[in-house]
Amino acid sequence: MARDYAADILDPVAREIVTNVGIWVDREVIPHVAEYEHEDIFPEPMVKGMADMGLFGIKIPEEYGGLGLTFECYAGVCIELARGWMSLAGIINTHVLVAWAINEYGTEDQKRRFLPRMVAPEIRAALSITEPDAGSDAQAIKTTATRDGDDYLLRGQKMWVTNGQRAGVYLVLTKTDPNAQPAHRGISAFLVEKDTPGFFVGRNLPKLGYKGVETTELAFDDARVPARNLLGGEEGRGFQQVMSALEVGRINVAARGVGVAQAAFDDAIRYAQKRVAFGKPIFEHQAQQIRLAEMATKIRAARLLTFDAARKKDAGLRCDLEAGMAKLFATEICQEVVLDAMRIHGGVGYSKELPLERYYRDAPVMVIAEGTSDIQKLVIARNIVRDYPV
Ligand SMILES: Cc1cc2nc3c(=O)[nH]c(=O)nc-3n(C[C@H](O)[C@H](O)[C@H](O)COP(=O)(O)OP(=O)(O)OC[C@H]3O[C@@H](n4cnc5c(N)ncnc54)[C@H](O)[C@@H]3O)c2cc1C
Repeated sequence: MARDYAADILDPVAREIVTNVGIWVDREVIPHVAEYEHEDIFPEPMVKGMADMGLFGIKIPEEYGGLGLTFECYAGVCIELARGWMSLAGIINTHVLVAWAINEYGTEDQKRRFLPRMVAPEIRAALSITEPDAGSDAQAIKTTATRDGDDYLLRGQKMWVTNGQRAGVYLVLTKTDPNAQPAHRGISAFLVEKDTPGFFVGRNLPKLGYKGVETTELAFDDARVPARNLLGGEEGRGFQQVMSALEVGRINVAARGVGVAQAAFDDAIRYAQKRVAFGKPIFEHQAQQIRLAEMATKIRAARLLTFDAARKKDAGLRCDLEAGMAKLFATEICQEVVLDAMRIHGGVGYSKELPLERYYRDAPVMVIAEGTSDIQKLVIARNIVRDYPV
């Protein structure tokens, strides 16, 4: 029986959905994850299970066939998915983020053409900002989009595209005016479809963790993209559109931090009550009680910060401060909690036969992707200083 981790936090509708996802994770994910993870195999049956539960359409409005649920519910679902396997929350992350951006900023034509197909999903979505020479500094991208009649020609190279091989549509950040000052005014986002002439998906980049889900390069060699696929139909809006969509991604990654930390904690507190050292369970040693108390407190705080950010986004407000704090805190404590769980397990914690080593390999990606911890701190600092004009 899945433990009701957020009984006192979530609204009743979200709670029921999150509980059901948790039950599914306990039954369909946790017993099988090791074989997929260690072989780095895309988890088709798990993804089908997620699709059957409607999770790919969780943030797509009902009028386009989706569930139209809240970010609060989405955050709870992502925590549960990551408690089973962080990669599952990664598989839906860019999809949900791009669907949200289309619904929020897309033209009616874009919403009608893409959103209904993203529910089942017939097509999955990826997000492509990062390039070989530009990551944190997204305004330094070099990929260009040049108008050519009814189309744009995209030219450039992208890196680290999660879901890159299996996506059917890519939200791609480009420069339509490379000389614009400030640079963000010349940035535009395009919905690039898989079969676009001149568009190529490159190799799957080998990774320390985050297995099962592919992360690829993309190449655009005068890729011919119809002008009607310019997100929102207006040039120069892409940077703001994508930064706002990244709040959705940061809620997802914060939730992943909570989920992985929770999984490590669950394993550790069970083990601490069974393993005997110096004549008593190690949980009876006060040093371990203090360690576990600190772990539980960090996870609870991270969970509350994540739901706080989600609720602000549900209210239709920008939440870069709250999502930044949630992502920063949840992913940093995840690394600490995972290492503490490994300490509690002693030597066996280092074994490849326990899931702890997977948590340990999965945790670092969360402090990097979707904006590093340093970048979250810059976002937080920019926001907090506004309240103190001098
Ligand atoms: C597994 C994985 C999946 C990913 N998936 C995607 C994806 O789907 N789509 C996508 O577009 N990208 C994706 N990324 C890319 C990811 O978002 C970037 O790696 C990340 O934003 C950091 O950019 P970078 O790697 O270029 O590092 P850099 O920007 O070069 O940063 C290197 C270091 O410098 C620090 N730094 C940079 N600027 C500052 C500053 N102003 N002040 C202080 N420190 C600074 C950073 O914090 C970091 O420690 C993924 C990355 C990984 C590893």
